Amino acid sequence: MDRYLVKPGKPLNLNLWDPNDKSLFPISKKEGKKKLRELNQELEALQELLFAEGKHKVLIVLQAMDTGGKDGTIRHVFEGVNPQGVKVAGFKVPTSKELAHDYLWRVHKHTPGKGEIVIFNRSHYEDVLVVRVHNLVPEEIWSRRYEHIRAFEKTLAEEGTTILKFYLHINREEQKKRLQARLDEPHKNWKFSQGDLAERALWDQYQAAYEDALIKTSTDNAPWYIIPANRKWYRNLVVSTIIINKLKSLKMAYPEPEEGLEGIVIE
Ligand code: AMP
Ligand code: MG
Repeated sequence: MDRYLVKPGKPLNLNLWDPNDKSLFPISKKEGKKKLRELNQELEALQELLFAEGKHKVLIVLQAMDTGGKDGTIRHVFEGVNPQGVKVAGFKVPTSKELAHDYLWRVHKHTPGKGEIVIFNRSHYEDVLVVRVHNLVPEEIWSRRYEHIRAFEKTLAEEGTTILKFYLHINREEQKKRLQARLDEPHKNWKFSQGDLAERALWDQYQAAYEDALIKTSTDNAPWYIIPANRKWYRNLVVSTIIINKLKSLKMAYPEPEEGLEGIVIE
């Protein structure tokens, strides 16, 4: 999975990352969907163990360009897990109350507790992405935030949170198709806003902001992965596999049962 890992400090050009890559699972879409069902079961079992053990906290950050597939990834990768131990926190345009605080305030309170997995659908990274591209605060302010974010995530990690960050990588052509589908298919209309076109026009600025964010904040404790995401089934397989491998590496175990349970027969 290291092939999709952003190596800290190395230069990064997103144009050189193939959003159609399927080298890790060189299989058909049909086989890919079948494989995902197996992975879903594996993830379900690991999440139950995480919940039962109640020791580890897992934070998953999802970022992408519009139509990149954040919602679909959550729906498909976490299909079948027990909703009791998994939460999704979505971050939209900040409210006036949120804007009255520092930008990490609204984020910190959604971080996972012991035994929990929390998925961020957008995140504090918006504060160096949309905020930077639209000059919502001056450069002097946003340019300091990479450092804050590294420190924030280091704090979480050192206090026991396992962090995985995924940038779902699509290209401009794929976004065109997906936006058009949101216009053409009535049940998808709700996802389209005319503002999406203004954002699309800023594609290059967003990509540059992403490159900077990914390079500056991919760390050993909170790594970024660039997921080829033009093919939804492949994207799901890669995200699921990275999460599963990480959970396995935690060497979790069910808690010891109470003493003296042997021989008890329920009347
Ligand atoms: P959606 O994910 O389509 O529901 O859209 C949420 C919108 O909220 C996106 O356009 C984001 O760019 C925007 N957003 C999220 N966080 C921030 C932020 N910190 N500042 C400004 N806009 C934000
Ligand atoms: Mg949107």
